Amino acid sequence: MRPLIAGNWKMHGTLREAVTLAEAVRAGAGGISAELLVCPPAPYVHPVAVAMLGQPVAVGGQDCHLAVKGAHTGDVAAPMLRDCGATYVILGHSERRADHGETDAVVKAKAVTAMAHGLTPIICVGETLAQREAGQAEAIVRAQVAGSLPDGFAAAGGVVAYEPVWAIGTGKTPSEADIAAIHATLREAVGGTTRLLYGGSVKPGNAVAILALPHVDGALVGGASLVAEDFLAIARAA
Ligand code: 13P
Repeated sequence: MRPLIAGNWKMHGTLREAVTLAEAVRAGAGGISAELLVCPPAPYVHPVAVAMLGQPVAVGGQDCHLAVKGAHTGDVAAPMLRDCGATYVILGHSERRADHGETDAVVKAKAVTAMAHGLTPIICVGETLAQREAGQAEAIVRAQVAGSLPDGFAAAGGVVAYEPVWAIGTGKTPSEADIAAIHATLREAVGGTTRLLYGGSVKPGNAVAILALPHVDGALVGGASLVAEDFLAIARAA
């Protein structure tokens, strides 16, 4: 299946920096066979989508509300993201689960709404360090997948990202054997057609090895996606 290399820009940058980064990714996208996706902060989704118009780089949101509209101050609705040019949305990132108390049930409800409004969900799962050290990593991601993925997820092209919480922004990654083991578990859980991304300290220097592992169908990149050359180098490794 075609790999997906997704950049999660998180809460970084000015509008000018976001558009400049988008233009640099667009300029370097030619000849890359992987699908490319950038997920800017919500206020920059539309200008980044405009910068990508007519180019083969998709744009996504970093979250959406489970309701389609309503009295939810500060939240962003799936149809708004779609209207602004997004075609993907990251859901259930560990930072959302931690900062906003998002449960598997909430993530699932958001995915239902996203899919109903033309957004492909990328649902994030992953264990904490304490859970890994307790030997619970596989059970945790299995439970998160069971609780967070709605019916029809695979048919809608939904994507799952394995992001061990302790590997995010730390420069640490699981061993290749550990990534392969979790991805084999995920493959068994989600079936053969769902793309499985690895995320957590993916850099140009480790991308070739990680992306070569079985059942790793792409990457969800945080910090390195803020530097166009690094993001493109990771994409070329896919
Ligand atoms: P880093 O690549 O900065 O570790 O972030 C990973 C991540 O959380 C992507 O969603």
